[in-house]
Amino acid sequence: MNISLQQYRISAKIIFFALFLFAPLLNIFRFDLDLGHFIIFGQAWTISIDSILHGGGDSLDAAIKIFSRVLLPGMAFVAVSGVLIWKFGRIYCGWLCPHFSVVELINDLMLKKLNRVTIWEKANKQTHGLLPKLIVFVAAVSMAFVWAVGLLSYLVAPYELLTGLVSLDLGFGSSLFIGVATLVFTADFIFARHVFCKYGCALGLFQSLIWMANNKAMVIKFDRARAKVCRDCESYNKHKPCDQACPMRLPTRNMKRAKFTCTQCVQCVSACNQVQKDNPEGGLLSWVNGDEAIEVDRPASKYKGETIPIKKVK
Ligand code: SF4
Ligand code: SF4
Repeated sequence: MNISLQQYRISAKIIFFALFLFAPLLNIFRFDLDLGHFIIFGQAWTISIDSILHGGGDSLDAAIKIFSRVLLPGMAFVAVSGVLIWKFGRIYCGWLCPHFSVVELINDLMLKKLNRVTIWEKANKQTHGLLPKLIVFVAAVSMAFVWAVGLLSYLVAPYELLTGLVSLDLGFGSSLFIGVATLVFTADFIFARHVFCKYGCALGLFQSLIWMANNKAMVIKFDRARAKVCRDCESYNKHKPCDQACPMRLPTRNMKRAKFTCTQCVQCVSACNQVQKDNPEGGLLSWVNGDEAIEVDRPASKYKGETIPIKKVK
C-alpha cells in the first residue's frame, strides 16, 4: 500500500513541479511587471478601482471592490490552507513543494554517487575520483538554473524571456537575476537543502507551528511495543533504513516534537515496510491521527520496556 502511496506522491510532485515551471508560460499565474498586475488564467487580475478613483463611485464602492477581490479570496485561501495544515501538517512540503523535490533528487543522487545523503554526514563507503562529485555538482547547478529561470518567468513576459535565453540576448537585469539566483540556489542545493527546509523557509515553519498545536493531527507513529525488531534490522542493515530514508534527516521513530519539521513524505514508512516485508506483522512505522496521534508525543519514559532517547540530528 505504501509503495503505491509513494507512487502517488511522486506523481503529485512531478505534476506540481511542471505547474511551477509552466504556469507563467501558459498564463495560468504570473505577475506582469510591465503591466503592473497579476495575470490569472489569462485574465488581468486588478482591484479595478481606477474608475472609482476618477469619480465613477464612492468610498463604499471602493471598499466593496477591495473586500471582494482581495480580502475575501485571501481569507478563504488562508482558512482552507489552515484547516488542511491543522489536520495533515506539512503535507504541502512533502507532496508538492518544488524545493523539496530538488532536496529529494539531490539526496538520492548524493547517496548513489557519494555514499552519503548530505555532505555533512560521513560516507558509509569511500568514493574514488572526481567524477561522482562532478555529477552531483552539475545536477545541482542545472536545477539551480532551472529554478532561477522559472522564478524570473513569474515577473517578466515568459515568451520573451525564453527567446532571449535561446538567442543569448537577455538584457542586463535578467542576466544578473539568473546569474545571482543560480549561484544562490547552487549553494543551497549542495550545502543546505534540508537545512533551508528546516530553518530557512517561513512557509515551512508556519505549517510546522500550526501542526504542532494540534496533538491529534496526522503523524508518523512508531510501534514501540515491537521496538526489539529494530535491533536485528539495524545490525543486519548496518544502519537504520527508516532514518537513512528521511530527507529531513529526522529521528523518524521518535516523539512528534523531535520531528517538528516532518514533511509527511512517508519515506520512513516505505523504508521500514520494505525491510519488514517478510514480517507478518509488517513495518513498525505508520501514519496515525486522532487519539493515536496523541501518544506519539508522550516521552519514551512513560512507556514500559523499550525507551528510545531523543537523539541529536544535524
Ligand atoms: S526500518 Fe523499521 S525495523 Fe528498521 S530500524 Fe527503522 S523502524 Fe526499526
Ligand atoms: S519523519 Fe518520515 S514522513 Fe517525516 S520527513 Fe522524515 S521520512 Fe518523511
